[in-house]
Amino acid sequence: HDYTKDDIRNMVEQENVNFLRLMFTDLFGTVKNVELPISQLDELLDNKIMFDGSSIEGFVRIEESDMYLFPDLSTWMTFPWSAEHGKIAGVICSVRKPNGEYFEGDPRNNLIRVLDDMKKAGFTSFNIGPEPEFFLFKMDADGNPTTKLNDSGSYFDRAPMDQGEDCRREIVLTLEKMGFEVEAAHHEVAPGQHEVDFKYADALETADKIQNFKIVVKTIAKRHGLYATFMPKPLSGINGSGMHMNMSLFHDKGNAFFDKNGALELSEDAYHFLGGLLKHAKAITAIGDPTVNSYKRLVPGYEAPVYIAWSASNRSPLVRIPASRGLGTRLELRSGDPTANPYMFIAALLEAGLDGLKNKIKPMEETSRNIYKMDSEERVDNDIESLPETLKDALDELAKDDVIKNALGERLLKGFNTAKRLEYDSYKLQVSEWERKQYMEHY
Ligand code: GLN
Ligand code: MG
Ligand code: MG
Ligand code: MG
Repeated sequence: HDYTKDDIRNMVEQENVNFLRLMFTDLFGTVKNVELPISQLDELLDNKIMFDGSSIEGFVRIEESDMYLFPDLSTWMTFPWSAEHGKIAGVICSVRKPNGEYFEGDPRNNLIRVLDDMKKAGFTSFNIGPEPEFFLFKMDADGNPTTKLNDSGSYFDRAPMDQGEDCRREIVLTLEKMGFEVEAAHHEVAPGQHEVDFKYADALETADKIQNFKIVVKTIAKRHGLYATFMPKPLSGINGSGMHMNMSLFHDKGNAFFDKNGALELSEDAYHFLGGLLKHAKAITAIGDPTVNSYKRLVPGYEAPVYIAWSASNRSPLVRIPASRGLGTRLELRSGDPTANPYMFIAALLEAGLDGLKNKIKPMEETSRNIYKMDSEERVDNDIESLPETLKDALDELAKDDVIKNALGERLLKGFNTAKRLEYDSYKLQVSEWERKQYMEHY
């Protein structure tokens, strides 16, 4: 929506908005917000809202503590749930320096920069359709999450097996009120696990939507007495939660990935983009799977990818090409999970693909066999490498990959790398229950 300041003033009045929530995303993909009373509306619309950036992780640097929040009016919305004190409107903001320049440490600003590279390469939009998955857990009497799932349903089950159904329905209705076009919502394979898919949109809009989506899911779940988590692998022994990303690149003649006469009806551009994704897959993993726990999901046996390969017919590889063609022609990357910062993840995917186009990178041969049935020798024969197995391995891959490093820019890269290495080191200091069980009595 291209809202003018007057449109905003009208909406605020009509919808009885009393609070303004200014949102932006930090390095970790967490939505940060500052709430203002409605009396500050004019200040907000005039880009006069200041905040202290020094206490936000990844922003730190004392001399940069004064930051401004410039609202992107096209993201304006009123949260559909009513609050005790009138409605709350939300707007996503760009973090700016006191002189009005984009602050490079803001992941959304960075994505805007990367989208410019795409325009320079002659494309009009990078479209993304995400498939975020999540679990619903029961809460205890104090309102804290337990490890008890709310049902024992599985893929596409329906009530009464699927007790999450009411909650999921309300999530869908709420999303629709917020302007989402929900394409599908279903119970996932694991008990207590769900997926809601919304219609593809261009990169920036989708990244914004992913952030709002997580807020909606958590808010509505809580109203149903449930705790929603996007943690990739909350329980061992069952599937984890991924966030598959369906991607396509458009130019003014339509979908650049479609070619009626190409092999599999895919264009040269599609193959080169795929080549770029595969070439940079290891470094992309650091950004798409940025937590220690992410790597507990990327193991054989739970429908998550482990090896670097692609296929149009089989679901096990890293990149799948869904059957739809024409406008719907797309590549689906299956490694990422919902802990990824969507702005950074999409920037990495786009730069990887553009590198493929620029350097005409050819993808490996399609893998039509089930890779999990191959032994390691067969995988070597077929040029199939593995994704990084730990957050540390992934960060080491990122350190070697200039294209993906450039996708983040110096500022974000440094903050990300430092924070994530600390996270890994802190994990390394822990001794787990598994280790005690395995070794205490044995040795
Ligand atoms: N949950 C699986 C994953 O971790 C995906 C399952 C599916 O969507 N078929 O990626
Ligand atoms: Mg799906
Ligand atoms: Mg799924
Ligand atoms: Mg999928």
